[in-house]
Amino acid sequence: MMRFIFTVVVIVSMAACATGCRKVEGTGRNQLVLTSASTEAQLGVQAFNEILKKEKRSTDPEAIAIVQRVGQRIAAVAPDRGFKYEFVLLESKQPNAFCLPGGKVCVYTGIFKYCQDEAGLATVMSHEVAHAIARHGGERMTQGLIVQGVSTGLNAYLKNQGVSPTATNVAMAAFGAGAQIGVMLPYSRTHEYEADYLGLKYMAQAGYDPRVGEEFWGRFASSGGSNVPAFLSTHPPSAERSRKMREHTDEAMKLYAQSPKYGKGVTLPARYLK
Ligand SMILES: [Zn+2]
Repeated sequence: MMRFIFTVVVIVSMAACATGCRKVEGTGRNQLVLTSASTEAQLGVQAFNEILKKEKRSTDPEAIAIVQRVGQRIAAVAPDRGFKYEFVLLESKQPNAFCLPGGKVCVYTGIFKYCQDEAGLATVMSHEVAHAIARHGGERMTQGLIVQGVSTGLNAYLKNQGVSPTATNVAMAAFGAGAQIGVMLPYSRTHEYEADYLGLKYMAQAGYDPRVGEEFWGRFASSGGSNVPAFLSTHPPSAERSRKMREHTDEAMKLYAQSPKYGKGVTLPARYLK
């Protein structure tokens, strides 16, 4: 059965490649995305609205201002995809963050203690923005829906689903926002490394010290223990990963040299760091 599914996926992928193959800007990797960017953005907005209905928005002006500032600096340097960025801080112990296609970014206060400062927050936010810019969500939806055998007319399929819970749920899981619906799909290693690499560059261009990147993931990884947060389980850390981050730091430092320098920025408010 697996072999059959694999064959179908290969054949459909080859057929679809005529229209759905593209290269990721910044890495040149070939990817197959059958959804359109506008469909992804539409699903991103639906998912965002669902999340805002369920989650509690922070009312802390100091913390909100920091999230906005970091987000806007990243948005200003990331490749222009016509995203309508929004940066929202959600009050929750969950250490989590994600960027939906179309540029809706959610950060949970629970991740602050791992970030420590603005540059730590920039590491997380630029990594998440990179997932969206590189259309990893669309790629994951494509993979998922091909396996389900609805590869033909994928856009039509999603369109027919409209605002249905099914389409939104598929999208949420694919976009990394699945904690809401209890389905957390881990990003593949390829996606993680790509988001690390691209995110590190955005962060440096935005003016944050890219050396903090490796520090952040190290801090996050070592804090896992037996109580591994969802964010971490979908972002597998490894010795290989920090080694790669270190490799990319030199390249990012060259970008940082030509950028405004905020260093580590301000320390996040102490009440979140306990
Ligand atoms: Zn990631």
